[in-house]
Amino acid sequence: MKRVRVVIIGSGPAGLTAAIYTARAQLSTVVITGNQVGGQIATTHDVDNFPGFPEGVTGPDLTDRMRAQAERFGAVFDYDLVTEVDFASGSPFRVKTHGHEYLADSVIVTIGASPRRLNVPGETEFTGRGVSWCATCDGWFFRGKDILVVGGGDSALQEAIFLTKFAEKVTVVHRRDELRASVALQTRAFSNPKIAFLYDTVIDAIKGEDMRVTGVTLRNLKTDATTERKTDGVFIFIGYDPNSSLFGGKLEMGPQGYVVIDEMMSTSVPGVFAGGEIHDDRFRQAITAAGQGCSAALMAINWLGEREGQGLLQDLDASEAETIPAP
Ligand code: NAP
Repeated sequence: MKRVRVVIIGSGPAGLTAAIYTARAQLSTVVITGNQVGGQIATTHDVDNFPGFPEGVTGPDLTDRMRAQAERFGAVFDYDLVTEVDFASGSPFRVKTHGHEYLADSVIVTIGASPRRLNVPGETEFTGRGVSWCATCDGWFFRGKDILVVGGGDSALQEAIFLTKFAEKVTVVHRRDELRASVALQTRAFSNPKIAFLYDTVIDAIKGEDMRVTGVTLRNLKTDATTERKTDGVFIFIGYDPNSSLFGGKLEMGPQGYVVIDEMMSTSVPGVFAGGEIHDDRFRQAITAAGQGCSAALMAINWLGEREGQGLLQDLDASEAETIPAP
C-alpha cells in the first residue's frame, strides 16, 4: 500500500497537465499511465493546432515534453493499468493496479476514450495485419499500397492525408454522402490526388489470405448492393467511446458512459475529479483536454486545502503505509 495525496488515472494531455499542476503545488502525485503514455495524442502524427508550436509538433514529442515537465515538478509515473477503484468509503480512496495499491486523498480521472470498432467479420482477426486504428504507428507498413480509411470526421480526413505519405492510393469510405470533417480538412483532402471518396458505403467484412488483409466486402447503403474490393489495409476512424467501465456503479455517468462532472470538475464522489475525454464528448481536442486537466487539478488542490483547513487531511509522514513524498 502506498500513501499519496493525488492519484491521476490516465496520462493523456488532461492527466499530464493535471500532474504538472498538482506536483507543482507540492502535492505528492502519482500518474498511473495506462497502456499508452500520452493516450490518443501519442498516436497522432502531426499536431498542428496545439498553441506554442508554430511549426507543429508530433504527438509523441508533445507527450514527452508534458511528461518531462510533470517529472520536473516531482510527479511519479507508474506505467501500469488500474484494475480496481474503491470510492465507497470516501477519501482516502483505494486505487489498485496490477503491481501496486494506492491510498490517495484525491483522485483525478483522465482516462479518456478509445477508438470505436466496426464490429464486422475479419476486423479482430486482421488487427495488426492490415487493420489499424493508428496511422502514425502503422502507416509506414503501407508504402506504395492501396488502403481504405473508414469515417467522415476530422480524424478520418486528417489521417487519410497523413497516410498519403506512404500509400499509393487512399480511399475514404463514408456511410453518408456528406462529410462531418471541418471545411479546412475537406479542402486539403479534396485537393490531394492520392485520395478518393466512396460515399454511402460501409464495410460488411474484411478478408485476407496468409494472415494479411487482401480485400473487403462493401455495401452501398442507398442501393444495398454489395461489391468485393481488393485492398491492402483498412484504417478505422469512426469516433470514440469513453473508457469508463472501471467506474460503473461508482461514479455517475451519462447515457453514453461519459462521467458526469459539475462546474467544479467534481464527479459524483467528493474528492474525485475528472477532465478530458472521459467526460467531454464535445470538444475532444488535446488543448481542451489539457485545459480540463488543469481545471480538475486546481479543484483538487483547492479541495485538499479545505480538508487540511478542517483538520481532515492525515499527515502523510504519520502514515503507516509507504509514502510517496511531496515534491
Ligand atoms: P467524429 O467526429 O465522431 O466522426 C466519426 C465519423 O465516423 C463520422 O463521419 C461518422 O459518420 C463515422 N462513423 C461513426 N460510426 C460509424 C460506423 N459504425 N460505421 C461507419 N462510420 C461510422 O470522430 P473523429 O473524427 O474521431 O473526431 C472526434 C473529435 O475530435 C471531433 O470533435 C473532431 O473535431 C476532433 N478532431 C479534431 C482534429 C483537428 O482539429 N485537427 C483532428 C481529429 C479529431 P457520420 O458522419 O455519418 O456520423
